[in-house]
Amino acid sequence: MNSLPENVIISDLIECVNFACIKHKDQRRKDIQRTPYINHPIGVAFILTNEAKVTDLATIKAAILHDTVEDTDTTLEEIENVFGKEVGSIVAEVTDDKSLPKEMRKQLQIEHAPGSSLAAKLVKLADKLYNLRDLERSIPTFWSQQRVQEYFEWSKKVVDGLRGVNCTLENELDKIFARRLKKTDESRSN
Ligand code: NDP
Ligand code: ZN
Repeated sequence: MNSLPENVIISDLIECVNFACIKHKDQRRKDIQRTPYINHPIGVAFILTNEAKVTDLATIKAAILHDTVEDTDTTLEEIENVFGKEVGSIVAEVTDDKSLPKEMRKQLQIEHAPGSSLAAKLVKLADKLYNLRDLERSIPTFWSQQRVQEYFEWSKKVVDGLRGVNCTLENELDKIFARRLKKTDESRSN
């Protein structure tokens, strides 16, 4: 439950959005249209508020900030100093250790998923949902069909470890996995 006055909640959320906008300002997504990167964290937070009906303020702030440490020069200390320990610990949970090789980072996401906190599970589910919707809409430049398929298969393994926290998110993800399975079955039988 958020017990803060409405004006504080609004100004806190806009502070997060402003922080993420500044941090991601020179980045683009990998789709052919090179969509501004900031569309993604805001879209992940929107999935949580609008579809999953999540209203916990720290979770929504962490969703807006979820890629700042992994993908920009932002440090976890900076997140903690500006947004507090609770938001900092959720962002830490959803941040991969970039000093590790990519395959290990992907394996660790699968292994860490079941033991994640409720807030981190929600952010991760919404993140995967956003990315898989993106991949259904448009395949990133230079990605082969095999790479897309591998991304879907890996995402499903992560999502399976995150289940049990939000039916809406899980149902939306299951629809995507079912569509993908149908598509691969069809292409095999052709
Ligand atoms: P990347 O990690 O390079 O890219 C996926 C990440 O990019 C997403 O998790 C997302 O992260 C971000 N992203 C940015 N734009 C988009 C977009 N439009 N749609 C979806 N995601 C976007 O890819 P992977 O290394 O995970 O590659 C997928 C699979 O393919 C892996 O299993 C890997 O093993 C394999 N692979 C295959 C290669 C091949 O040539 N066959 C080469 C390399 C990998 P965020 O939410 O954090 O922004
Ligand atoms: Zn993300």
